[in-house]
Amino acid sequence: MANSKFEYVRLFEQPDNLLRETWIVVRIDGRGFHKLSDKYKFEKPNDRRALDLMNAAAVSVMKALPDLIIAYGVSDEYSFVFHPNCDLFERRSAYVISSYQKVMSSYVHQWPIFFPEKPLELSSLPTFDGRAVQYPNERVLRDYMSWRQVDCHINNLYNTTFWMLVLKGGLSNVEAEKELSGTVSSDKNEILFSRFGINYNNEEEIYKKGSVVYRQYQLEDHQPQTLTTQAMESQATTELSKTQQEKMRKLRRKAQVVVDHVDIIKDEFWQRRPWLLSGKPGKLPAETTQA
Ligand code: ATP
Ligand code: ATP
Ligand code: MG
Ligand code: MG
Repeated sequence: MANSKFEYVRLFEQPDNLLRETWIVVRIDGRGFHKLSDKYKFEKPNDRRALDLMNAAAVSVMKALPDLIIAYGVSDEYSFVFHPNCDLFERRSAYVISSYQKVMSSYVHQWPIFFPEKPLELSSLPTFDGRAVQYPNERVLRDYMSWRQVDCHINNLYNTTFWMLVLKGGLSNVEAEKELSGTVSSDKNEILFSRFGINYNNEEEIYKKGSVVYRQYQLEDHQPQTLTTQAMESQATTELSKTQQEKMRKLRRKAQVVVDHVDIIKDEFWQRRPWLLSGKPGKLPAETTQA
């Protein structure tokens, strides 16, 4: 780099590296999607195509960034998780967060596939905000993931009941809101069942559980006692050289990226997929190899 008397301005740049050996979650959320969903007439409470589009955008990001371990999406938000051993962009916050731009461009790019009859208007382009949060250990990371999935459940039960009261029950938005104020889950289940003949348990999993995106390897047997060992192991392998990181990326690119709608709160999900918390790629399934 050429030396000039102007170069001192670099001193004004602040370091913004995220802490080493922490889990990094980049959470993006659609800006003003309430309005956007009105504008493009999303079906209420859940427009399946809009969710499929979010998922397609998330899959593109997972494929483009092999450093990503897992992502979880609900409504207009997605959380992308990097392992403590990840050294992407030297963990510089601004660069890591900028991975959400990929979601944005992918979302806009794939919009016509999911909404062929509703071209995007320049004045109402979908945009997202993004932030990076660091979590110090597996327990907190899992609690974070659980928090998002519980949020999904609570919001979906509310929204399903609300929109039933409005669309089928003939209530106005204000009346439906009033009807639901102060109710607990069992009350909403009861309203759905007794008034509309809906058993909430039979609603689609994608609505109740949200979407989990990750790389698929051979599932391990469900062995409740292994988690602690795994947890210790993954803590011990956080430092990886650049060459090791590159090798890991290559292996990860070979795995298929899948979208699941399953419980990520219970241990079983993580125990059967030890590669998620360990950050070490598992064995590729024998038959399906390339994504
Ligand atoms: P902010 O900019 O603060 O995030 P917002 O309007 O995006 O505001 P959120 O709390 O993020 O508000 O909620 C997203 C809203 O987008 C939901 O309340 C819902 O109305 C709408 N929405 C998002 N995805 C869907 C979908 N798949 N089907 C129907 N509506 C959706
Ligand atoms: P910001 O204004 O910083 O964007 P926010 O209030 O819009 O924050 P986020 O921090 O993006 O919300 O949080 C994402 C989701 O978490 C929200 O859509 C909401 O469902 C939930 N959430 C946020 N704050 C709370 C809270 N205090 N209690 C319960 N849920 C919350
Ligand atoms: Mg939003
Ligand atoms: Mg949101």
